[in-house]
Amino acid sequence: MPMKSLKTADVKNKTVIARVDLDTPLGKDSSGNIIVRDDYRLQRILPTIQWLASHKAKTVVIGHLRRPKGWDKDKSLLPVAQTMADLLKLKFIVIDEKVERLPHYDIPHVFFFAEDFRAEKSKRLLKDLNPGDIAVLENIRFYPEEEKDSEEFARELASLGEIYVNDSFATVYHANQVSIMRLATLLPHYAGFELEKETKILSQVLATPERPYLMMIGGVKLSEKLAAMSGILNHCDSVIVGGGIATLFYLAQGYEVGKSLAEKSKIVEAKDILRNYKSKIHLPVDVVVARSPEEEKSIRVTKPDEVSPEEMILDIGPETIKKYSEIIREAKTVLWSGPMGLFENKHFAHGTKALGRLFASRSQGLSFGIAGGGDTLAAIKMLGVGEDIDHLSTGGSSMLQYLSGIKLPGIEVLKD
Ligand code: ADP
Ligand code: MG
Repeated sequence: MPMKSLKTADVKNKTVIARVDLDTPLGKDSSGNIIVRDDYRLQRILPTIQWLASHKAKTVVIGHLRRPKGWDKDKSLLPVAQTMADLLKLKFIVIDEKVERLPHYDIPHVFFFAEDFRAEKSKRLLKDLNPGDIAVLENIRFYPEEEKDSEEFARELASLGEIYVNDSFATVYHANQVSIMRLATLLPHYAGFELEKETKILSQVLATPERPYLMMIGGVKLSEKLAAMSGILNHCDSVIVGGGIATLFYLAQGYEVGKSLAEKSKIVEAKDILRNYKSKIHLPVDVVVARSPEEEKSIRVTKPDEVSPEEMILDIGPETIKKYSEIIREAKTVLWSGPMGLFENKHFAHGTKALGRLFASRSQGLSFGIAGGGDTLAAIKMLGVGEDIDHLSTGGSSMLQYLSGIKLPGIEVLKD
């Protein structure tokens, strides 16, 4: 059974609990206040939130920020809720210990509940929302129960509303989180528009990709990337490898990688992948190395098996860029996950820039381009080519698992 679309739900005058993705990059303004640095994830949930508001639902928004241990003011959703109100062009009111009742206006508001939603006062005020109002709860991970699959906590949350909608693609791979799983089973449940869009696009790539289907993989989250790579290798035609993951494959081949970032515990897995899929995998033929990222004078290009013990691999080299560019030009579907080098440093950004630009320029026509992952999206933003790419996924890990053919628990739970 497919997920039920929110479009089919009757939400008028009902309280709808919306689990969305609020885990946005933060920064500080000139006075030191925490602010949202990049609102792309918020932009993507606006259609669902606006639809709920315009269909006269009372919306209770649940989201998380980072990995807090308990109630941690630095990881408060306050600045995120404020930005959401700005994007929605609605008035924003913080409900804290000083507020005893909701101010009643004729126009909808965004309220931020700074205190525990389980307190009597919070429950009373949440019941008092007007149709069209939006109440954002504090970081759901402030509650340890959220990640412990607590039945009781799920019931507390469910008691706040009558309908559940999930629009948080980035978190649907988590099997034990109450607001993704158990809460969905307690209420009539629907998929939000962003979740629907992600699964529609990715299911097409999984089932019927236009071939050749190429994966471009880099970055440093090695266990996640390796797992994804072996899953996706069953579906794609070839993989070009860069970043820390290329270093790992050199180690697996017995090369000396000096002081490069590397994880020896993953060598066996990397060897298995190389053995099983050798013909599909391309490794860099040259690399940019330095004694450290700061020692500019030590930067040189070398063969991957000629890295000295004092050096570290920090980018793919010019011959590799040329070779990979030819492979990208032949592909009809390109999936990009992970930068090719330490791109935050301009000396080691050439691989990511050159291939990122080519990837973007071939998208929307010559090939179908999909990218995901926090740092990959940051690199795309730096290049200013986001608009050119067919699909920017809001969930790096969810995207990789989905395209590996793995069933994601938070999606499955919405299907029955
Ligand atoms: P994503 O967030 O896109 O999934 P990762 O988190 O796995 O990607 O990795 C991104 C990080 O990898 C970036 O900060 C980048 O600087 C770093 N990186 C890539 N290649 C190298 C390298 N050769 N050495 C050190 N860091 C690297
Ligand atoms: Mg990352």
